[in-house]
Amino acid sequence: MYVVLAAFFGHWYLSLFCQTFFLHRYSAHKMFTMNKFWEKFFYALTYISQGSSYLSPRAYAILHRMHHAFSDTEKDPHSPHHTENVFTMMWKTKDLYNAVLNRKVKVEARFERDYPYWEKLEKLGDSWISRLGWGILYSLFYIFAFIYLDMHWAFFLLLPIHYLMGPVHGAIVNWSGHKYGYQNFDNKDESKNSLVFDLLMMGELFQNNHHKLPNRVNFGTKWFEFDPTYPVIKFLSWTKIIKMKESKVGVEVPKPKEASPTHLF
Ligand SMILES: [Zn+2]
Ligand SMILES: [Zn+2]
Repeated sequence: MYVVLAAFFGHWYLSLFCQTFFLHRYSAHKMFTMNKFWEKFFYALTYISQGSSYLSPRAYAILHRMHHAFSDTEKDPHSPHHTENVFTMMWKTKDLYNAVLNRKVKVEARFERDYPYWEKLEKLGDSWISRLGWGILYSLFYIFAFIYLDMHWAFFLLLPIHYLMGPVHGAIVNWSGHKYGYQNFDNKDESKNSLVFDLLMMGELFQNNHHKLPNRVNFGTKWFEFDPTYPVIKFLSWTKIIKMKESKVGVEVPKPKEASPTHLF
């Protein structure tokens, strides 16, 4: 059982780290720089960790930049305030994602620029053979654990989360982060901070802070808000694997009208 739990949480957090660190903060926002070697390293790590649900840095960056530009309006690719439920929101996002990925929709020039692109890995990551192969691998692991490690059958219910890891993370952040929680800033949208210690989504649930300060590396802005990815980024900067952009490190937090959250849940 412990092996299965370790595999589940290992997959959850490695995939989540790649999403917040590489797809979101690097590919979409360019909060820091890294050389070509490390870019390929984290690109490959994103492919390995997301596996069957691999998300392209280009398509992710474009959709995410649109989300910031049109937050909680009709043109937002995934606003919970313009869809009936979390599944219709995921479906709508998937359609736009595929259209952008396959260049079937015209993208504004301000979104279509400055993102990492590795053609071979893009083709591999989006191929059926790769998606199916990873899915079979996850299933075989659970079957192995069921037969040889005495795993309870109920753990099979975790398999769909493995298959859809990337979109599941996206759905939690996009739904909860624009629906539940408190606001530090008035961003003229519905963005919320859902948790004060965001151990669940590694900082992604500080949507209200992040929409106010989209280039700030630390998503926590109050002393009690903890963004677990920030210390990792500081460590990677200290080891010189990444380089912080001077202009983005010291982005000051504007004084919000309220000194403390307006409401908690
Ligand atoms: Zn948002
Ligand atoms: Zn963002």
